[in-house]
Amino acid sequence: MSSVAPGRSLRQRAELCMPGGVSSPVRAFRAVGGDPLIVERGEGCHLTTADGRRVLDFVCSWGPLVLGHAHPEVVEAISVAAARGTSYGVTCGAEIELAELICEMYPGLQQVRFVSSGTEATMSALRLARGATGRDLVVKFAGCYHGHVDQLLVAAGSGLATFGTPDSAGVPEEFASLTRVLPLDDEAAAEELFRKEGDRIAAVIIEPVPANNGLLVQRPEFLSCLRRLTADHGALLVLDEVISGFRLAPGGAAEHYGIEPDLACFGKIIGGGLPVGAFGGRADLMAHLAPIGDVYQAGTLSGNPLAVTAGLTTLRILRRDDAWARLEQLGSRLQARFEAAVTDDSVTLVRAGSLFWLSLQSGDPPRQPELIGAQAAERYRPLFHSLLDAGIYLAPSAYEVGFLSLAHDAGDIDQLVDALASALREARSVVQDQ
Ligand SMILES: *Cc1c(COP(=O)(O)O)cnc(C)c1O
Repeated sequence: MSSVAPGRSLRQRAELCMPGGVSSPVRAFRAVGGDPLIVERGEGCHLTTADGRRVLDFVCSWGPLVLGHAHPEVVEAISVAAARGTSYGVTCGAEIELAELICEMYPGLQQVRFVSSGTEATMSALRLARGATGRDLVVKFAGCYHGHVDQLLVAAGSGLATFGTPDSAGVPEEFASLTRVLPLDDEAAAEELFRKEGDRIAAVIIEPVPANNGLLVQRPEFLSCLRRLTADHGALLVLDEVISGFRLAPGGAAEHYGIEPDLACFGKIIGGGLPVGAFGGRADLMAHLAPIGDVYQAGTLSGNPLAVTAGLTTLRILRRDDAWARLEQLGSRLQARFEAAVTDDSVTLVRAGSLFWLSLQSGDPPRQPELIGAQAAERYRPLFHSLLDAGIYLAPSAYEVGFLSLAHDAGDIDQLVDALASALREARSVVQDQ
């Protein structure tokens, strides 16, 4: 490869031809500094970088790889599918089978529409919600990420309901003005907003297990309150299960919390490592979508045969191998070993099944983003690099969660805990020396 541009590193070449050298911002390691990973291959729970390092991977492509990298059965299924053609532009059998399986596994789901990313799933679900209700407002929660949808790139506001202000340049104020932002963990604020504007609200969208700004595990009562408020006011509850779907339980957070949404959004796991998203709900709601209804939504590669085959194979393996019990076992081992090994009370392991996050402060795990102290990023940086030096790859940001997969075993968990405990001891002694 170096013969293409002698003298230039892969990183330099990447930075010349792609903004920041990446196709998605967090990959650039801006939050932790140092050289971003450039990967040559993944196998099980390991990544091999282009410069020949092998690391134990706890990011797992940010969630899709619940079976680990290059699971032999998934690779085989994709290879067989590829030989039969990579895209048809019409419905295929594996697509029907995946749709049936998703509807069978997820509470209350009768129909799904496939798209190619989680972003498309939330964007399209909200268009459907607006079309079906004839209302314009959507409500989101500060600290929840739903992909880079214009009207959802809004997180402002704490304590009180606020008018959305865009988080990103390029999102006009007018786009964000139909978005209301509420604080997580606050029934009173939600009730207040519904009292004022309940008859204009098309949908409330939430990550039932907010996992994109730390891991802000919510009280079940809070989620039930949203279910009740939306039902009482004729608004739709949209659960963004792009991370939690098929990971927390066979029926995602909906099953875990016993809450049936009107619409659910999926991504990550349902593509088995290929680009897939989906959204779904009751058949009467989904009937608002074209070609039956008047809400337009389409995609050239939607229901792509390779992608749905990878997702279908992944979901079948999860069911066959009793995955949810095993993921919970791995998670609880991580928690138990962590609590035994790390006595420093200024760091807590927050966990929801096979998702985990280090809260780098003392006290109860935060349930709102504002409660994550500003020191978190500062403290995370050296920790991240100690772990990477020890051959363990955690997410390159204090605000991203870790993912366990069926490719991890007890020994991998122990390796993570040992490295974490020693990195924390090291950090502590540096602080004490100062
Ligand atoms: C990753 C994610 C998305 C966006 O999915 P993409 O495939 O990256 O577009 C949406 N919602 C949640 C909760 C996510 O974690």
